[in-house]
Amino acid sequence: MTLNQYIRDIQDFPKEGVVFKDITPLLANPKAVRECMALLMNNLKDRKIDKVVGVESRGFFFATLIAYELGVGFVPVRKPKKLPFDTISASYELEYGTDTLEVHTDAIKPGDRVLIHDDVLATGGTVKAVCELVEKLGGEIVQCNFLMELSFLHGRDKISKQEVYAPLVY
Ligand code: IMP
Repeated sequence: MTLNQYIRDIQDFPKEGVVFKDITPLLANPKAVRECMALLMNNLKDRKIDKVVGVESRGFFFATLIAYELGVGFVPVRKPKKLPFDTISASYELEYGTDTLEVHTDAIKPGDRVLIHDDVLATGGTVKAVCELVEKLGGEIVQCNFLMELSFLHGRDKISKQEVYAPLVY
């Protein structure tokens, strides 16, 4: 099975000039989801991971499955004003303006070994902000894990000290 066939290119979404990788056909196919999970779990079992952080919203799908497979807790990183308890936040630059992400202050303990998962690594701004949140709480980042990497946007350069893993590269 080639997983690529379940990832749909949507032209000009969410704005003109962008080709959006849509993973909803993949999510709807249990065989494809299983194959993705096998790839994402590659080498994770022995990494002594304590928490899996998932990034709102498409990062939640596989981050929760990875946490379940590893038998560890899932931590949501969300857009502002979505999390009900005390939070810390980190902001990052967009093409026009900035965006902010938040995490609960008690979600990660100092010394926790953390896997960060999101569906797509594009420019790297999002994951860089997530790394800041994890490190502010004293977490140790084991790997930044993605379903796919848009390598032409060089997102890795923004998190050069982190281990990056993405089974699908465009
Ligand atoms: P970055 O901050 O530019 O690396 O963008 C990554 C974030 O934007 C992730 O949370 C992705 O969910 C989302 N994203 C960027 N491009 C795409 C895409 O083509 N398909 C799905 N999500 C995308």
